[in-house]
Order: sequence, then structure tokens, then C-alpha cells
Amino acid sequence: MSKYEAEISRRRTFAIISHPDAGKTTLTEKFLLYGGAIAQAGVVKGKKNSRAATSDWMEIEKQRGISVTSSVMQFQYEGFCINILDTPGHQDFSEDTYRTLMAADSAVMVIDAAKGVEAQTRKLFKVCAMRDIPIFTFINKMDREARDSFELLEELEKELGIETYPVNWPIGCGKEFKGVYDRGSKKIIHFTSNGGAKAATATEVELGDPNLDDLIGERLHRQLTDEIELLDGAAAEFDLDRVRHGKLSPVFFGSALTNFGVEPFLEHFLRMTTGPLPRTAGDTLIDSMDDSFSAFVFKIQANMNKAHRDRIAFMRIVSGKFEADKEVYHVQGGKKIRLSRPQQLMAAEREIIEEAYAGDIIGVFDPGIFSIGDTLCAPGKKFKFDPIPTFAPEHFRRVRSLDTMKRKQFLKGMEQIAQEGAIQIFKTPYSGMEEVIVGVVGTLQFDVLEYRLKNEYNVDLYMEGLPYEYLRWIETEDGEPVKEEDLILGDGVKLVEDYKGNQLLLFATQWAINWTSERNKQLTLLEFGGGW
Ligand code: GDP
Repeated sequence: MSKYEAEISRRRTFAIISHPDAGKTTLTEKFLLYGGAIAQAGVVKGKKNSRAATSDWMEIEKQRGISVTSSVMQFQYEGFCINILDTPGHQDFSEDTYRTLMAADSAVMVIDAAKGVEAQTRKLFKVCAMRDIPIFTFINKMDREARDSFELLEELEKELGIETYPVNWPIGCGKEFKGVYDRGSKKIIHFTSNGGAKAATATEVELGDPNLDDLIGERLHRQLTDEIELLDGAAAEFDLDRVRHGKLSPVFFGSALTNFGVEPFLEHFLRMTTGPLPRTAGDTLIDSMDDSFSAFVFKIQANMNKAHRDRIAFMRIVSGKFEADKEVYHVQGGKKIRLSRPQQLMAAEREIIEEAYAGDIIGVFDPGIFSIGDTLCAPGKKFKFDPIPTFAPEHFRRVRSLDTMKRKQFLKGMEQIAQEGAIQIFKTPYSGMEEVIVGVVGTLQFDVLEYRLKNEYNVDLYMEGLPYEYLRWIETEDGEPVKEEDLILGDGVKLVEDYKGNQLLLFATQWAINWTSERNKQLTLLEFGGGW
């Protein structure tokens, strides 16, 4: 294997998905701790705050005490080069969170052992499942009272529609959480805590070891033996191929807080998951090992630094090697360009980089030329990666400029911000240009919109909440646009268009979606849009 191939095949790029408070940040920190990227846990959060202080734009983040932006962190562990894509986990998460998942090759789903599957887990899971990427489950907070492990697995299967395979099994929970039983090696890994900031000490013991009663207690020993018997009899077979196609989720138990089970998880996960996955560009599959560079833009972050009016475009390298001094071809712009100030986040530090490989994420300075989904490749090539889907917003407002004389700035600002992917904008077939309907995935985006229109376009907004919560793209049998008078639409349903002319329906309730599709059989209602 050449150095080039070795660099690519040792890369693992994944996102951690969870409902807020399940422990995503804590687990990420512990990965960095085990990877030696930070000496003590607690660094990541501290760093986040000090960085936020450097820019006005982050005021909103600071005020609300949450992270709006999702970042990428790279670290090394046992020869692997790991890229973790952080997805904002607060209630106010945005469409960016979904798009970030497009850059990942697998997902780690963190579940709170006392709560099971929660709303945001479900949404993020759906987006991962759409791409059939491997999904690994980490059942966290076993150091607290947890729900029955069998019951949790059943809930995962029923709620998410994925089969599960417990790779290890917890021994006790709460104060009695002693360790995990590894089903492959048939060994017990017993943990002792050294405090949350340091790695836990693990001791391995064979299942039949006479000392086991002393180590975990007679009762837990008996319970474990019973549960193993049940598991071996009932659970699905392990099948790596099904794992890699997102059909079977390997499940692990642990506690990110006390570090119990973090290392066993990391070791199994890194070996089971795939290296950089190929991506499709029309009829062609672009493989990570292809000899020339290619990448796609999945996220654009505006105004990280107000003084420079910066936009940073984040791109996922699909194939080849990126070299900072070489020209690349921006397909949608039809131009050869040099990517300026390519950056990567290494553990907690942002660094300018000279080279990066397939699987890596780089952020480059964007003078306003990139859009979400854009392709970059080696000069001489011209393929375009398939578009990144648009995801249905869940909150809608009617928005116009308070000052009617500022219509032009208003529209320009709205279109610009929509093009960056922070909001989606719609109009009704009859409405003029004075007002638009804005749809967002998380309501924080409304605050961001208001702030940016005021600060960048000098426009004060009037916003009025609309009662819709669901959006579906319309597909018709003949591909022709529908006419409103031909549809049977009840209360709480509205026909709108996006600015590309696609037709959509807004619904107040899930019930209204069913009602409408039953009465309008000529329509297919889609949850994901055609894309950026
Ligand atoms: P996120 O919102 O998913 O990023 O969750 P955080 O990592 O910020 O964790 C939310 C809260 O749960 C924090 O107070 C953590 O200290 C706590 N927490 C995280 N993991 C564990 C765990 O394994 N056990 C316990 N008891 N608490 C945890």
C-alpha cells in the first residue's frame, strides 16, 4: 500500500447524533482524551466559550448558552485518523445539523439509558438511515438508574426500525455498574474509576473465573449468566456486511462521565466502521482512492468574524489528496481557483493546513462564490456530486421589511441568507414580493435572520408566526405543476412555492398530511427535497 492509500484507508469520519443532554459532548471529550488529543477532559467546552468571545456573531450563541455552529475535530487513535463531525444538539438545532450528516461515513447514536429513544434522536436517525450509513449505538449514563437493557433494545428496533446487535452487555447499573461483558471474546471488562477526567482502569476476567463473585458480586454474576443465555438465544447474528449497510446497529453500553466502556466502544467501532465512503455524481461513483482530488461543500458559515465579513465554506474531501498550493476546479462556478486559508480543527485548535486526504473536512475562506452542494475537483474534470437534499423545516413565519422603501435590500438579504442554507424561503402563488414565508428547522434561525438583516442589510423585520409545522414537497405523476383549484385542501394546509419554482404544501398537523394525501391521490408528498 502506498503512503497515499494508507493515509486514506486509516481515516474514519463520523457524526455523533443524540437528543440534547444524552451525553454527546461528554463522549466526544472522552474520545479526545483516549486519543491523547487533550490531556484532561473538560477542555473542549472551555475552548468553545473562549472562541465565541472573539466574534459578535457568536453573541447569540453566548446569550443562549448554546452552540449554533457545528464543528469538526480531528485526532489520532491507534493508527486511525479520526474526524468527528459535531452536530448541534440543542432544541434549536438547524438544517445545518442535517447537512453535516451528509459529510459523515457513519454515525454514533448516543442514547440516555434512562430515557431511550427521544425526539431529536429519531429525526437525526432518519437522515442517516436515508443514506444507509452504518449506525452504532452507545447506551450512555449506565452509572445512573437505567431502564432494562432488553427493553431498550426492543425500543430501538421498534421506534427506529433497525435491528440491533449488543456487542457488549452491562453488568449492573447505577452505583452497581461494574463493567461490561464482551460477547465476542466472552470476557468481562471490569472498570475502576480514576475520576472522570482520567481514563478508567480496565481489568479483563474470563467468564468462568472463580474470582468473579468477589469482583462483581454473586447476584450480578448470576444475573449476567442468565442474561447472556437469553441474549445468545434470542438476538440477531452479527453480520458485518449488514452493519456497514446500516441494517444492523452494534450496541454498546457505558458511561461517558466515568469513562466506563468508552475505550471498548472506540476500539470495536473503529474496526467495524468503514473508511471513507464513495459518493455518487450522476452515473459515476467517485471512490476515495481515485487518484485526483474532489470534494463537495456541505455547509457555509457566515460572519464568523464580523470585521472581515467572512464566510467559511466547509467541504468534505471525497477522493484524492488536497494540497493547499494547487489549483482546483469549481464546477458550479465554472472556474479554476485556489482555495484560500484551508483550515482544520485539530482537537480544540484551528489550524491552517497544507494537505488533507479523502475523508477529511476542510473549511476554506469563501468570498461568496460557493453554494451548498457545490463540487470541487481536479482541473480537467467536470462531474457534479449529487445534490444534498433539502430538509423539511418545522417552523414558519411570514416576514417583511418594516420599512416598505427597503424592499430591495430586504429581498437581497433574504435570498443571500437562503442561499447559504440558513433558512428556506417560500411564496404563495399569489403573493407579491413584499413578503416571504420563511421556514426553519430550529427557531433560533429566526433570531439569526433578524440579527443579520439588521446588521448586514440595515433592514428591520416584521415577523408573524404561522401555524404550520410540516412541509412536504409535491411530486405529480406527469411532472406538471398542480393548480390550487384542482386540489382538495382542508384547513391548516397551504400551497406554496420555493424560489426555484418547486411546489410544496405546508401542514399544521401530521393528521392534515394524511387527510390531504388520501384525498389527492395524484400527489406524492416527499419529506426530503430535490436539493441544493
Ligand atoms: P449533550 O447535550 O448530548 O452534548 O450532553 P452533555 O455531554 O453536555 O451531557 C449532559 C449532561 O449529562 C451533563 O451534565 C453531563 O455531565 C451528564 N452526563 C453525560 N454523560 C453522562 C454519564 O455517562 N453519566 C452521568 N451520570 N451523567 C452524564
